[in-house]
Amino acid sequence: MKVIVLPDVGFCYGVKRSIDFCKEHKDNKKALFLLGMLVHNDLVNRTLLQNGFQMIENENDLLYQLKKHPDGIFISTAHGISEKTKKRIIDAGAKLIDTTCPVVNENRQKIIRYYQNGYDIIYIGKKGHAEGEAIKEYIHLIENDSDINQLLIQNPNIVIMNQTTMSEMDFKSLIPLIHQKYPWALEDLCICPFTLKRQKNVLEEINLHHSCHDKWLVVGDIKSNNTNKLFELIKDHTNNCYLVNSVLEIMPLKLSSDDTIYICSGTSTPNQLIEEIKEYLLKI
Ligand code: SF4
Repeated sequence: MKVIVLPDVGFCYGVKRSIDFCKEHKDNKKALFLLGMLVHNDLVNRTLLQNGFQMIENENDLLYQLKKHPDGIFISTAHGISEKTKKRIIDAGAKLIDTTCPVVNENRQKIIRYYQNGYDIIYIGKKGHAEGEAIKEYIHLIENDSDINQLLIQNPNIVIMNQTTMSEMDFKSLIPLIHQKYPWALEDLCICPFTLKRQKNVLEEINLHHSCHDKWLVVGDIKSNNTNKLFELIKDHTNNCYLVNSVLEIMPLKLSSDDTIYICSGTSTPNQLIEEIKEYLLKI
């Protein structure tokens, strides 16, 4: 079997940074809380829970834990938390550790600036994702054509922006539709450079070397947006593509020793998992 691991797999800079913040505090005797999934990967979150971190499930849970542990440590996700949540924690006197990725933070600051300057912001993102949820009071979140149909903006100042882990594919279909409705809307798009690089690596490999018999494994959690975007990108070129998050999930795929397997990953996939998968494949 030939196994080709693409460059830039495993944790990205922002995910690694958030995990490092947690590692720094894991031995602290105070109660430790995660304000939602630190990153979109179950393996990572499960490990943190096993190490004594507790997950805040919702707003009521946050209020309850702040009351019970006013000296607790509350850690934000890599994709941000709302100003309201920040204020709640600070006002309660607890410690807030904001691990929001700098790429997300920069985009968020831009969004707030546009908003404060009177713009309506049409934001291409995924409903329920932490990044959009953290700024929902500033944006009109759209995910598909029907969301565009429902927009009722009457403002000469409109700007189209996005969640940082979307792909160019998402914009290609939606932006012309937004422009049909609002021809004057500006575009100020920001795809995370680390996510974009992985999408480009995949396309480059498909264009240069890929044959229709080759198989692709996208390693990552189904909850991770950038993992799904990589999967969709490859699916556009071949059906021999599988999204997996463990060696167990590879076993039913009936891979053979004659196969050529390409491996790429989402940005919240542990590097150790890629190694385990590679090791398993090389034994087939
Ligand atoms: S994918 Fe990009 S935006 Fe998200 S955490 Fe990683 S570096 Fe930050």
